[in-house]
Amino acid sequence: MHNKTIKELSTLLHSKQVSATELARHYLGRIDASGHNAFLHVDHELTLAQAAAADERLAQGTAGPLTGVPIAHKDIFVTRGWRTTAGSKMLDGYVSPFDATVVDRFKAAGMVTLGKVNLDEFAMGSANENSAYGAVRNPWDASAVPGGSSGGSAAAIAARLAPAATATDTGGSIRQPAAFCGVTGIKPTYGRVSRFGMIAFASSLDQGGPIAQTAEDCALLLNEMIGFDERDSTSLTVEQGNVREDYTRDLDKPLDGLRIGVPAEYFGEGLASDVEGAVRAALDQFVKLGAVLVDISLPKTALSIPTYYIIAPAEASSNLSRFDGVRYGHRASEYKDLQDMYRKTRAEGFGTEVKRRILVGTYVLCHGYYDAYYVQAQKIRRLIADDFQAAFADKCDVIMGPVAPTVAWDLGSKANDPVANYLADIFTLSTSLAGLPGMSIPCGFGTGDKNGKRPVGLQIIGNYFAEAKLLNIAHQYQQATDWHQRTPEGV
Ligand code: GLN
Repeated sequence: MHNKTIKELSTLLHSKQVSATELARHYLGRIDASGHNAFLHVDHELTLAQAAAADERLAQGTAGPLTGVPIAHKDIFVTRGWRTTAGSKMLDGYVSPFDATVVDRFKAAGMVTLGKVNLDEFAMGSANENSAYGAVRNPWDASAVPGGSSGGSAAAIAARLAPAATATDTGGSIRQPAAFCGVTGIKPTYGRVSRFGMIAFASSLDQGGPIAQTAEDCALLLNEMIGFDERDSTSLTVEQGNVREDYTRDLDKPLDGLRIGVPAEYFGEGLASDVEGAVRAALDQFVKLGAVLVDISLPKTALSIPTYYIIAPAEASSNLSRFDGVRYGHRASEYKDLQDMYRKTRAEGFGTEVKRRILVGTYVLCHGYYDAYYVQAQKIRRLIADDFQAAFADKCDVIMGPVAPTVAWDLGSKANDPVANYLADIFTLSTSLAGLPGMSIPCGFGTGDKNGKRPVGLQIIGNYFAEAKLLNIAHQYQQATDWHQRTPEGV
């Protein structure tokens, strides 16, 4: 049952071969028995109440395609009932009085919440090791990281603890964990998915999206997720093109004549040979499907790391100022006066990486350095976006390359080396800085440092609003290959 896709589960639910309650019980049982530390909060009663409501809709004939299908939410989306921690001690025990728009929409579609999944604290990280609630284990290899920051979401899908999960991507946090865990994820165009109730890390970059087994499942989930929201001031409006579409509509289109841009900068020094081999084999597969490969250049790629690690911390330092012990979550128990309360609360509540980013962000925004760092980074951000537009203008329809330079690394091996973590984001950051949609699909296995089986992801980047095209391309690949159907041993 748990190896079925959302699409298959939907058919079973609608033909009454399984009930939403049976499905919910099945997945809750798997979650309770699992040892990946993927889930942070599960509440059987809350889940089963939603499942009963879904069964009612299925019986009355008012069910939609996702009614009764279980979903796990990244613990950065606020939820009524389930606790929301953002992976931080700062929000330990916090329960939101409202649901995030994304959660609300899935609820309205009749999906059944299984619980909240682990993440790097405030989504800052690439390995899920920055969670205050412990690291998540990669279901393929318990000694490997699952990627981050949506490590819990990707691990939950890989271990088949849920058929669907929400995630967020600020600089790669949907694509990279999806790659490390051998599952499918898509980050939509910036502004298409509401950020309301998605705890803010870097507001000009943060974007929600789904992780699931297949591109087709991601299309079904995007059908609910995408759309204007008046409660998010950066939400793209209908007039700006943010119309709700049926993302399954183009899945079956053939790929004849598709021009795939292959950026030289994504295949240079630093790319592990096992990753390169799997990605090049995937490109060959696309040629067999009728596509043509075009050599392109994205010359500013290397600048995406310093640019992102100025802009993201700058925005984070501002966003995280709200956690002061007055309004939300943790407050120090002993203090002399108000200033001392702020200081102790923040010293106790935030983890090392979050503190580091608040310091860096405050530094680059301060009076004397603002022009030299922050303004300069904004200018380079524009040049990075221009690189993509030059490629899409006349050379290619989409861009493909690796998601990360290596497969998942060993737990602990980079835990105390922030720069090593930052460098591993090289192929995902520029897409985020440009606000473009990007996808990760499983395309093989590498070995990393060990002889374990660790998945490799293929990244597909499109122009603004090209989600349906990315899903079409990914679906055609998944019709021709079976990487997305492989599961870790024992699953
Ligand atoms: N790894 C990047 C960071 O640490 C991206 C994280 C994300 O996309 N949320 O900031």
